[in-house]
Amino acid sequence: MARPIWPGVIEAYRRHLPVTARTPVVTLLEGNTPLIHSRALSRRVGASADVYLKYEGLNPTGSFKDRGMTVAMSKAVEAKSVAVLCASTGNTSASASAYAARAGLRSIVLIPSGAIALGKLSQALIHGARVAAVEANFDACLTLAKELAKAHPITLVNSINPHRIEGQKTCAFEICDALGRAPDFHVTPVGNAGNITAQWKGYREYYQLGAIRRLPVMLGFQAAGAAPLVTGRIVKTPKTVATAIKIGNPASWQAALRARDESRGQIAAVTDREILAAYRGLAEQDGIFVEPASAASVAGLLKLAKAGYFARQKPASGGRLAIVCILTGHGLKDPERAIKSLKVPKPIPPLLSVIAKAVGLK
Ligand SMILES: *Cc1c(COP(=O)(O)O)cnc(C)c1O
Repeated sequence: MARPIWPGVIEAYRRHLPVTARTPVVTLLEGNTPLIHSRALSRRVGASADVYLKYEGLNPTGSFKDRGMTVAMSKAVEAKSVAVLCASTGNTSASASAYAARAGLRSIVLIPSGAIALGKLSQALIHGARVAAVEANFDACLTLAKELAKAHPITLVNSINPHRIEGQKTCAFEICDALGRAPDFHVTPVGNAGNITAQWKGYREYYQLGAIRRLPVMLGFQAAGAAPLVTGRIVKTPKTVATAIKIGNPASWQAALRARDESRGQIAAVTDREILAAYRGLAEQDGIFVEPASAASVAGLLKLAKAGYFARQKPASGGRLAIVCILTGHGLKDPERAIKSLKVPKPIPPLLSVIAKAVGLK
């Protein structure tokens, strides 16, 4: 049977977004990512909970950034912009350069030199972005990008661009549409904090429209070496293997705290060790390969579960607790990390007996 083709997030959620009939839609048919039930994680959380994984790594450029970029790029074209600019820990530059290529716009990206995953750098380069590898961290790159955008006629497409937030809120819509309600808990990695801000905005809008009857509790997780929202202080030299959330001074700081407080949630820290354990677990037990930053949500989930957090919660619907973890980006973005944490096989001769022994067959 023929099924309608997914039209991308702007057409799917047009009436919730700042677009008009005159807005040229720049899309790679992003969104509509799967919400995958995890038996392994549901079991580990216990407390009659169902854990779902929103696999945002399946967006066209491999991260949730595409949801915001389709709107930001469409609005940039509508405003007759000829170039876009961003500072990036990697995925924003991958997304911006792809959508700019599609729109016929020039793209310029500032990346912290030596601090972004190879897959992401290759994306920016292959899509034809002008890439500046700046000898500074992400926070400094963002400050410089803001200055450049002030001095030149170019559109800044970092998440301080409100159109990015608008697009990214569609993730919350899709979750509610799939579950038929809001989850009880929404668990997400937090870096520059645009995403948690956008997701909370999405839930609130659906709530105000009567599309959902309850709001979720928002649970955000930062890497312990880059956790300014947890400590309340800017981190001058953020450190973590999770490069996508290696940010010491989040642009959406206040909005993230509002999401936390209005939803009676929390923003907490997980260590790199916990992040990498969740990263391996997702790959080995659920068959889902994510980049390290994405595993921060699952690391946080398991940490709270261990502390008995979910056992104390009553499902509002009287049924089972619904918990959604956002998996923000694809594992193939950062294959070096996977290789580093595992044993790479040594070459062996093409002999059945040797091969059988090497792969554990008797
Ligand atoms: C951008 C990004 C994040 C962090 O999102 P923020 O909106 O900056 O909080 C987390 N994971 C991945 C894979 C990302 O690309």
